[in-house]
Parts: sequence; C-alpha cells; structure tokens
Amino acid sequence: MTLITNNQTPPDPALPPRLAALGYAARSATSPLAPFHFERRLPGPHDVQIEIQYCGICHSDLHAVRGEWQGSVYPMVPGHEIIGRVTRVGPEVTGFMAGDLVGVGCLVDSCRTCAACREHLEQYCDSGFTLTYNSPDPHTGGVTYGGYSNRIVVDQRFVLRIPEQLDPAACAPLLCAGITTYSPLRHWEVGPGQRVGIVGLGGLGHMGVKFARAFGAEVVLFTTSPGKAADAKRLGAHEVVISSDPAAMAAHASRFDFILNTVAAAHNLDPFITLLKRDGILCLLGVPELPHPSPAVGGLIFRRRQLVGSLIGGLQETQQMLDFCGKHDIVSDIELIPIQQLNAAYERLLRGDVKYRFVIDMGSLASPSR
Ligand code: NAP
Ligand code: ZN
Ligand code: ZN
Repeated sequence: MTLITNNQTPPDPALPPRLAALGYAARSATSPLAPFHFERRLPGPHDVQIEIQYCGICHSDLHAVRGEWQGSVYPMVPGHEIIGRVTRVGPEVTGFMAGDLVGVGCLVDSCRTCAACREHLEQYCDSGFTLTYNSPDPHTGGVTYGGYSNRIVVDQRFVLRIPEQLDPAACAPLLCAGITTYSPLRHWEVGPGQRVGIVGLGGLGHMGVKFARAFGAEVVLFTTSPGKAADAKRLGAHEVVISSDPAAMAAHASRFDFILNTVAAAHNLDPFITLLKRDGILCLLGVPELPHPSPAVGGLIFRRRQLVGSLIGGLQETQQMLDFCGKHDIVSDIELIPIQQLNAAYERLLRGDVKYRFVIDMGSLASPSR
C-alpha cells in the first residue's frame, strides 16, 4: 500500500504550529484510498478538537473520490459522518468540553449572515458553505479534509451533540444519511394518514424508511433488489415493491402523497411520478454522475404533481434529528469495518451491496508519527 503525504518539506518556522493528523486519501479518481499524513489547524478560540472514533461511508464519498462530480481535488480525505470525543476546546467555546461525545456532518462552516444562514438553513447558504472535505479551507488556504482520519478541528457552531444512550458507531450515518432523509420528510410534513414511498434501500433509503415510519406514515419501499424485501419490513416498511416489475408498479398508480428517491444512478423518473396522487411530491435526493432522462411533462401536469429536491439539513435541524433519534431509539443499521477494508467496501457500495451503511472503526488506524 502506498503512503502519500502533503508535507514532504520541513515545516516553515514562520508558520503557526499545526496538528499532525493521519487519514486515508484518494490520490486520483482511479487510485485506491491509502494512508495519508497531513496537518490540521490548532484549535482557535471557537474551535473544538475531536478524536474521531467512527466515520460512515456515504455514496457521495464514492462519487467525489471517483471524480463523478465537478471539482474533485486530490489528495482527498473523504468522510462527513463523523463521531468522536472532544479532546480540547478553545477558550470561547461554551457548549462543549473534553470528553463529550459529538458529531460532525457535511458542513464545517457557512457565511452565518445571509438569509438562509439566519434561518438555520446553512445548507442553502447564499455565499456558499464550507464542506467537511474537498472544499476550499479558509483557515489553511488549502482544501478541507474529512473524517476518514484520526482527528478534526471544527468551529463549535458546526459540532453536534450525540445522545450518549445510542450506539455511537451506529449514530455516524445520522450525520448525513439521517438528516438528508429527516429534513425533507419534516419540511413536507409527512405524517399519519399519508402513503409515503422510499426508493432505494441503501444508506439514505433505510433511514428514510425508519423516519417515515416513526412519523406515522404508511411506508412502501421501492427496490431493485428482491433480496432486501425482508430487511425493508424489519426496518419499518409496510410493503415492498420491486420497481422493475411493471405490474407491481401499475398496482400503485396515483396512490402516493410523497416519494423520497435516494437512487445513486441516473434512471427513468416517470414510473415514480405516475405513483403520485394529485399534488403529490417526488423528492430527489440522489446526485448521480449522469442526468436522469427528463420526466414526461404529461405525468406532472395532469395531476399537478411536483418534482422537488432537498440537500442535507441545517445544524439546528440536525441536532433536532439527533435528539429525536435519542428519544425514539433510532440508529442506522451498519457494517463496522476496519479502515483497511475501505476499498473493498467502495466496490460493494457500487453494487448496491450494503446493509445498510458501512462505518469505519477509526481505532483500526495507527497513531500518526509526529
Ligand atoms: P447507497 O447506500 O449506495 O444506496 C443507493 C441505493 O440506490 C442502492 O442501495 C440501491 O437500492 C439503489 N440503486 C438502484 N439502482 C442503482 C444503481 N444503478 N446504482 C446505485 N444504486 C442504485 O447510497 P446513499 O449513500 O444512500 O446515497 C444515495 C444518493 O444520494 C447518492 O447519489 C448520494 O450522493 C446522494 N446523497 C445526496 C444527499 C443530499 O443532500 N441530497 C446527501 C447524501 C447523499 P436498491 O438495491 O434497494 O434498489
Ligand atoms: Zn453523505
Ligand atoms: Zn450564509
């Protein structure tokens, strides 16, 4: 396995001291992820330093690593489903202290002043947010590095409290898969008396099933994998439909109030639009490399159906989601892996073979040499 590093040159004594960190990085769109030594900023007055215990593997990590989206910068340390313990806080930090169990999701900063930020919708920041990885880092002048690593330093506003009674490893996926499904279900007020479809039983999909069920809706899971049907029911679906079966799909025409589509690849949306009632909503969450074929206009106009999208969630709502999970004992169903199995996990994710989120046990990562 190749060791790659961005600090080959001796440190410049004129620069402020940094924190040594170790993670796994992709060096290019085609190379496997490999150990990577790098540096993080030392905690400033408002910062929280976190020793990372677990990090989930989101399909977005795979899209970004493989260069399926614009703007991948290498070396890239992915990971935005981070759970860890606070080891140090800056003097102005009020909400956290050493020893706290905390989480970090997809965002580590935003402008804080625009209309969206003032409404706690940092994910829609008008000036642009700072993503946890692969974003320009205003602190270092480089790029942000994510959670496939041993430690991270984050402004306290972007740190979440994790309910101590839950399994911390199984909480990691709540930081992206959890909030990304919770937020649209809440925004469009999904609840009792409504029939809700979840498309795709992966990381996002299985959390969508759990939340839609917890909110009191009747939940139908649409999958391309017949082998996932029993699990879908165990996770909370009332019914499972194989989406490649036209007769099964036709039986559900015009029955749904709301459908959450989590599929990670381009596909025909028309069969799902046909499932909606008048004024029903198909909400897209997946961000495939290639565009979906445009839906037929007829499917939308004749029942005034709506095609919408949603992006993760703001910090306040993410905390509400975590507190809801603590109260209702909701976590992700995970496969815990050592970091050395990362590349094999990516291959399985690509095949839809995950039950239902890989989480890296960061204890498997050796301590960095300083
Ligand atoms: P995942 O765990 O890989 O699940 C995706 C599921 O989609 C698969 O398990 C599979 O379920 C279904 N699927 C059907 N056909 C597929 C195909 N050809 N290729 C891949 N999947 C297929 O992925 P995830 O982590 O849940 O993420 C899903 C998508 O949401 C990704 O595109 C990701 O980038 C995006 N995402 C968006 C946001 C947002 O804010 N909007 C946030 C996070 C992630 P079945 O076997 O049941 O068919
Ligand atoms: Zn994600
Ligand atoms: Zn903003």
